Amino acid sequence: MVGIVGLADEKQRLRFDEFSESYALFVGRASKKIDKVGLLAIYSKVVCNRFALKDGNQNIIGVGLYPNLCRIGHSCRPTGAVVFHERTAIVVPTRSKSFPSPLDWSLISRCYPDVDPISTIETRKDKLKSEYFIDCHCELCEDAAANETMEAFACSKRSCLGRVAIVDGAFVCGKCGKEFDEKARNQAHQSLQRIDSLFDPEYSQRSLKDQLHCILDCVHFTQTILHKYNIKRLTVLKAAYDGCVLEKRHKEAINFGRQSLEIYRYYLDEFDPFLAAFTLNLATTCMHAGELDAASQLMHSIIDRCEHIYGKQSEALNYIDPSFEEILAKLSLGDMGL
Ligand SMILES: [Zn+2]
Ligand SMILES: [Zn+2]
Repeated sequence: MVGIVGLADEKQRLRFDEFSESYALFVGRASKKIDKVGLLAIYSKVVCNRFALKDGNQNIIGVGLYPNLCRIGHSCRPTGAVVFHERTAIVVPTRSKSFPSPLDWSLISRCYPDVDPISTIETRKDKLKSEYFIDCHCELCEDAAANETMEAFACSKRSCLGRVAIVDGAFVCGKCGKEFDEKARNQAHQSLQRIDSLFDPEYSQRSLKDQLHCILDCVHFTQTILHKYNIKRLTVLKAAYDGCVLEKRHKEAINFGRQSLEIYRYYLDEFDPFLAAFTLNLATTCMHAGELDAASQLMHSIIDRCEHIYGKQSEALNYIDPSFEEILAKLSLGDMGL
């Protein structure tokens, strides 16, 4: 197990001080004998090798070290994910139902905690450098097309479906070569600004109704400007979904949820736990909207995956909605062996 935290970094030094203080409280009087250098070695190993500990509902409740799982390296497009079956950490494959046999550990990867695989390459690289001290050269970080898509605009020639990237200040479609005119360039800049403004601290002070109004306005404005798989578009669609669910505007929520799901599917592998969770969440929204066929279809598409990820008896099957069993009963899915 490696650990290479240095205290030259101010943020890491403050964190280490917090860690030392908590440790001193924990050991009480014995704290006088604490060997700071030894403690720093332990702290470094925790920082670089930690796993997010989760309860049966997959909520994060702390961090833990698993020497046998630490051999699994990071990838922003991992082949596995760590889930918890009660108190046991399990690595499940995300691309198929099982890992290839015989098991080759070098082919198994996981995404480190707090690193979002659906974030820009700069965001991921900064996080991995500052938190884990690694320069990532994973499959996704080397996939120029996927990284460009995350931030791309849509080609103004509607039939093209190409990705428009900013090249030397010009907005150029990589497929047909068409450039944005001044109006399109302004709209592109405005789209990004409007999305960023949704995350202003003062914006969160507004009422939910006001916030949702701004989000829906933003969805409308950015719809044809951002590329279909632009991750900022996903941020707005997901915010619109969450807002409509909270406001019980279920029909609209389903529309935004379906568009979000399509983008999640583009970036995540079929057996990714998050993809399963979001699909289940959308299914419950369909149920609340009275769209039972759609709910049933989504649940059928996911139950196999949830059982595979969390185990048949897992409480995780309830974690999207505490009334999951009632939903199943209402949808007459009780015979599915859950
Ligand atoms: Zn990477
Ligand atoms: Zn084009």
